[in-house]
Amino acid sequence: MTSALRKEYLAALGLEAWTLRGPAAASEFVGAVVDEPVPAGAAAPREAAPREAAYDWPQLRERVAACTRCGLSATRTQTVFGVGNLQAEWLVVGEAPGAEEDARGEPFVGRAGQLLNAMLRAIGLKREQVYIANVLKCRPPQNRDPVAAETIECLPYLDRQIALLKPKIMLVVGRIAAQNLLRTDAKLGALRQQVHTFGPSGVPLVVTYHPAYLLRSPAEKHKAWEDLKFAREVFARG
Ligand code: SF4
Repeated sequence: MTSALRKEYLAALGLEAWTLRGPAAASEFVGAVVDEPVPAGAAAPREAAPREAAYDWPQLRERVAACTRCGLSATRTQTVFGVGNLQAEWLVVGEAPGAEEDARGEPFVGRAGQLLNAMLRAIGLKREQVYIANVLKCRPPQNRDPVAAETIECLPYLDRQIALLKPKIMLVVGRIAAQNLLRTDAKLGALRQQVHTFGPSGVPLVVTYHPAYLLRSPAEKHKAWEDLKFAREVFARG
C-alpha cells in the first residue's frame, strides 16, 4: 500500500492528525514493529447443537431467520444473519444488531459500519473481502447488553458460521463479543494485543474496540489502529 493511500485510509479513520506529526509518527503507518504475541488461553469451542452442526449455509440462514429460541424474536424486525465473502480469510465478529441493522437485516451498517469499513481499508481490506457477523442475530431492545440466556441460545449459530467459513483470522470487536467468544469476564483492555485462539483448529483471534465505541470515544482510535496493525501482522505470520 502506498503512503498516500494509507494516509487516505487513516484519514477516514479520523487519525490524520495523529499520523502526520512527524517522522516518528509516520513509522506508525508504514509498518510498526509488533512484539511477539503472548499466547493466551485458547477459547474452548462450544458444542454446536446437533442440527446446526450439519447445516450448510442456506440451511443455517433459513434456521436463523425462523428462530424463536429466545425472547429477542418477539421484538426484532428481522434477524441479522451475517454478510460477506463465504471464502473470506478474515471474520469480523461484533456483539449484536443495532437499530439500523435490525431495519436493514445487515450487520455493521450506519456510522459504525462506515467506521468498520474504514478500519478494514486501513489494513488493505475491502468489506467485500471479509465476512461480518454478530454473536446475537437479533437486536436487544434499546441496544441493551445481551443476557446470558440469549447468548447461550444464539452462539451455536455463530459457531456453525465459523465452522463453515474456516477463517484464517478472527477480528473480534467490542467487549461483549470478546468475552463471549473467549469465555472470560476480562476487560477489553486486558484482551487486546494478544493472540487468542478459537476452536479445534486454533483460529487466531485478535480483539479490538467496537466501532460504535470509537465513535463515542475517538481518542481511543489510535489504540484500535495499533490493534489493526497487530492483527495484520498475526495474519501475515500465518
Ligand atoms: S437472538 Fe439468536 S437465539 Fe434469540 S431469537 Fe434471535 S436468532 Fe434465535
